[in-house]
Amino acid sequence: MNTLRICHLYGNLMNTYGDNGNLLMIQYYAREKGYNVETTIVSLDDDFVASDYDIVFFGGGQDFEQKIISHDIGRLKTEINNFIVNDGVMLAICGGFQLLGQYYVNSVGEKINGLGVMPHYTERQVGSRFIGDIEIFDEVNQQTYYGFENHNGVTYLTDALKPLGTVIKGNGNNGQDKTEGVHYRNVFGSYFHGPLLVRNEWLARHLIDLAIKVKHSK
Ligand code: GLN
Repeated sequence: MNTLRICHLYGNLMNTYGDNGNLLMIQYYAREKGYNVETTIVSLDDDFVASDYDIVFFGGGQDFEQKIISHDIGRLKTEINNFIVNDGVMLAICGGFQLLGQYYVNSVGEKINGLGVMPHYTERQVGSRFIGDIEIFDEVNQQTYYGFENHNGVTYLTDALKPLGTVIKGNGNNGQDKTEGVHYRNVFGSYFHGPLLVRNEWLARHLIDLAIKVKHSK
């Protein structure tokens, strides 16, 4: 039987608000499609080899864990970039989404380096957070997604990146430009906790279908 190989990036550190439920959904739909699932946590000091994985999941976390990870993650830049440019499927939530970008300014004003594999960057809000239900529309796939956001960071995509969707209700990336998350090649980033894939079955199935397609195109 074919096996879908999932990397849970910094999974022992980045695991807030039930984000790991996304993994359960990925595993469930992969099995439904007839695949075995192998899930490996890649964390501090571990190697990441792009060709070893079909899907990477990078969940959200607090400032504290993000700072620890920022000192380690630079080692993985080349291989994560290889994974992305080879159309690997990646789902990054909140703090994970922030860490894929250039930098992240935490709630006390410290600037933390991101992995820098994508051009977005994250500033902070002073004395407030975006907390609440959120709804967005994904024009590319003509889908509406529902979730819950809870973040201090405000993310700007730059002109090079497209959002996952346009905000209908809630704040999204920065509360200003109506963008939410990112969709670049097969990388899907979002501020949706909740978790995203449990509430948005279409997207869960879409990620699995993409990963299977990419796996068999090689
Ligand atoms: N610490 C980050 C922020 O508040 C990420 C939070 C999260 O992943 N929930 O913006």
